[in-house]
Amino acid sequence: MQIIIENLNKIYGNGNHAVKNVDLKIPTGMFGLLGPNGAGKSTLMRILVTLMKPSSGKVTINGLDLLKDRWQIRPMLGYLPQDFRFFPNLKTYEFLDYAARLSGMRSAGKRHRAVDQMLEEVGLFEARDRNANKLSGGMKRRLGIAQALINDPKIIIVDEPTTGLDPEERIRFRNLLSKISGKDVIIILSTHIIGDISSTCHNMALLNRGQVAFSGSPEQLINEARGHVWLLKATETEYLEINERFPVISTIPADGGWEVQVVADEINSYHGEPIEPNLEHAYVYFMEKKLNQWTNA
Ligand code: ADP
Repeated sequence: MQIIIENLNKIYGNGNHAVKNVDLKIPTGMFGLLGPNGAGKSTLMRILVTLMKPSSGKVTINGLDLLKDRWQIRPMLGYLPQDFRFFPNLKTYEFLDYAARLSGMRSAGKRHRAVDQMLEEVGLFEARDRNANKLSGGMKRRLGIAQALINDPKIIIVDEPTTGLDPEERIRFRNLLSKISGKDVIIILSTHIIGDISSTCHNMALLNRGQVAFSGSPEQLINEARGHVWLLKATETEYLEINERFPVISTIPADGGWEVQVVADEINSYHGEPIEPNLEHAYVYFMEKKLNQWTNA
């Protein structure tokens, strides 16, 4: 499986240029789309699931053209939108059965088997007779992924799936996606939560103001930040200066002063040493430093 996105643009009716000259190659496996709110992630995903047409550019999925061949592509897609809602008064299994019918599964017997199996897989079998609207936030999200997966899609697109979930549900959701990613499928996971990407995705892109600021592996992003993340030991006065001068990642009290993690090329006369960056450090480095430079240039 491969998705090739070439020079893609989306300009909304009001002039908002939400996706700008995007070029991306998305291979099999889990692909993380990371970026702050308003970066253009949802817009890009809505284009990929054929709910919205791009203003210009091209998307090819396994050699098929997203616009011309959309009737062939649609059955390959599973989508969990950000604002996923259920119809009122449907039980959990009724909802999933309905989703299965919509996705083209005509045979009732086949559908019932698929629904039961999927409920089992997402841990909702016990809740099958409960009203879908009355499920907890995490269970609703799992039902959301179940409806996206019911027809064995080859491309699964999930938009901000862990927002609002407690840590336990977030891990459960991630594990569910990781399990599916072992198959020959593409899973595109959009998020502004860095932990979602670092623990699951082999490939990623960083989107900012509609543009691809980085694409590659999380390790490559981290490599870019190596040597630019520091742990400084600061007095109270120094801390105030440091806070003015550098993007601060974290601060903890230590020995009557502060230990401060910052992103910087040079730390001048401050006391400190470079530390091994993680993806969060790399994200801050990229967003704060590189992007500010580019936009100021
Ligand atoms: P993200 O998913 O990364 O938060 P979005 O794709 O939702 O980003 O939004 C990207 C930009 O496009 C934002 O500036 C947003 O305000 C704008 N936008 C989103 N939807 C519409 C719309 N229907 N009409 C006009 N502008 C929109």
